[in-house]
Amino acid sequence: MWDVERSWTLPAYEAKGGYQALDKAFAMSQDEVINAVKDSGLRGRGGAGFPTGMKWSFIPQDNPKPKYLVVNADESEPGTCKDIPLMMANPHVLVEGVIISSYAIRANKAFIYIRGEVLHVIRRVQAAVAEAYAAGHLGKDIHGSGFDLDVVVHAGAGAYICGEETALLEGLEGRRGQPRLRPPFPAVAGLYASPTVINNVESIASVPSIVANGAKWFASMGTEKSKGYGIFSLSGHVQKPGQYEAPLGITLRELLDLAGGIREGHDLKFWTPGGSSTPLLTAEHLDVPLDFEAVGAAGSMLGTRALQIFDDTVCVVRAVLRWTEFYKHESCGKCTPCREGTWWLVQTLARLEKGHGSEADLDLLLDQCDNILGRSFCALGDGATSPISSSIKFFRDEYLAHLTQGGCPFDPARSTAWA
Ligand code: SF4
Repeated sequence: MWDVERSWTLPAYEAKGGYQALDKAFAMSQDEVINAVKDSGLRGRGGAGFPTGMKWSFIPQDNPKPKYLVVNADESEPGTCKDIPLMMANPHVLVEGVIISSYAIRANKAFIYIRGEVLHVIRRVQAAVAEAYAAGHLGKDIHGSGFDLDVVVHAGAGAYICGEETALLEGLEGRRGQPRLRPPFPAVAGLYASPTVINNVESIASVPSIVANGAKWFASMGTEKSKGYGIFSLSGHVQKPGQYEAPLGITLRELLDLAGGIREGHDLKFWTPGGSSTPLLTAEHLDVPLDFEAVGAAGSMLGTRALQIFDDTVCVVRAVLRWTEFYKHESCGKCTPCREGTWWLVQTLARLEKGHGSEADLDLLLDQCDNILGRSFCALGDGATSPISSSIKFFRDEYLAHLTQGGCPFDPARSTAWA
């Protein structure tokens, strides 16, 4: 769809068979749709990789409260740039996915929660929803199926933490975005204390193709436990940064071939497999299959498949400091290890980056990470420590070079070359 002229419009989507999966889904029972998604092996594309069909099956159908579907479109992890281009290029595949998914979990109201800063995306999805209503794909008795669905496009207020599903629900209910204590899980008591499924944009947008082509088709791609395809966002020092749709299990080496390789005359130094919350990897890991298991075995996480590529001109300490400043700024303040800890991480890292301090500060930094990891209320605190501990593991010498040279060895003002 992405190369089709005005691909975001309803006629362009329908010309490619859009909204036909809907009739196929309506010819199935709700449980058959859930089972098809389970059989496809689709795992959440928002980072955690939880099986989507299983998540849907947790909705208690004997609960008399209304059920809700919430699409997490609050994409803001540094380096992650897949949901926004998807919604810009093909918002109708998301809308069709929302209808099928809502039908499966028996929800008559769905929300698409979009990051507030991206007004152009909000407008595009709103326009697609309006087109879908006008064409009878949304509203009452959709396609004569007897199924009703209303969709609300909601603009977030610009907090990274609202990508965390329970903080997103708080925001949607009009409160300050902070994570909720679990249990109860959203499947039992989510939006307005009702059973709620929260799925990432890309997960929901994968549903129409699974219904149209069958679970086996989807499961025939990818690896044994990481099925299907996904969008890999390549940014940084590559010749052709952008989004690359590929089966899970592709390697960075193969993706770099598609993206024209590393910037001319330079070598790969380090990269993130899934955004800055995932531990860094290096050139040693070029052939690691990008699936949930293999990246985990390599000491990192697949996350959002946000591959930020850094060549040999980059100071890893400075890059890590920038990410840590981001986490300090975005910490919601609810729990002490993250609220205070990210502040201390920035202080210690900034001292090291300037070449002040001593080698003992490296151990102090790791100790600070240790007091945040596993002790924070949500994954933001854990994620903040990932680039720090992994960069010290692979680039301890570079940290030490800042101390011996009294500052950043990559600073062009310094005459001492650091090898
Ligand atoms: Fe808030 Fe950070 Fe604690 Fe998460 S870990 S609840 S973002 S303070």
